[in-house]
Amino acid sequence: MKITFIGTSHGVPAADRYCSSTMIEAGDAIYFIDAGAPLIDELLRLGKDVTRVRAVFATHCHSDHVCGLFSLASLVNWKYKDTAVSFYLPEERNVEAFKELIRSTDRSIDEERVRFCHYGADFSYEDENISLSVIPTKHMEKQGRPSFALLVTEKQSGKRALFTGDLSSNLARGDFPAIALEEELDVLICELAHFFIEHVDPYLKKCKAKAVYFHHVGPMKFEGLRAAVNNYSFPVHIPEDRDEITL
Ligand SMILES: [Zn+2]
Ligand SMILES: [Zn+2]
Repeated sequence: MKITFIGTSHGVPAADRYCSSTMIEAGDAIYFIDAGAPLIDELLRLGKDVTRVRAVFATHCHSDHVCGLFSLASLVNWKYKDTAVSFYLPEERNVEAFKELIRSTDRSIDEERVRFCHYGADFSYEDENISLSVIPTKHMEKQGRPSFALLVTEKQSGKRALFTGDLSSNLARGDFPAIALEEELDVLICELAHFFIEHVDPYLKKCKAKAVYFHHVGPMKFEGLRAAVNNYSFPVHIPEDRDEITL
């Protein structure tokens, strides 16, 4: 599977970084984890066939993870009529809000092809290319709102990528996904907006991932991260927008 970092910024875009979004290509299909970047614009700029897009999975419903999905959904609705995309969101009110946004701009929504779906802690996804499971995190626990880390497995290769989504401030709620400490992962894609490298260091020391990529890096966090990248037994990377990994 190929992973392309579409947006690597934290909650605010930077001059050269969109907000959080990562594209996965597996088999003939394209998937997105989070949609903080303008997905349709980047698909077209990268020369990707829009009909290949199968699903968008939001780790949580903060705007820097979902705001870029609307224009894709709208264009699939009225222009790319040979395309069907499922948008998985962990909060029902956002499912309804996006549907209403499409209705209010396009007059109607073709729900056979533009599928907004609510998911919870028991959700899993599977098709011929990938399987995906969810791990609850505590990013928005204080507000009683759900958030998830997402584990993606490519069926053909068995390669596994874990996306942490956003985690708790200073990791005070201990929500670094335990699976990264217990099982070998091919890649861990971890946020670094809500804590410093010192907070995640004890977890990284026990982490069994073969490589770690930090995206969603807060501006105050870069210096410490760059100083620490060689402290671990696996490579630690700080990707730019459009950087790619092939697993
Ligand atoms: Zn975020
Ligand atoms: Zn967030």
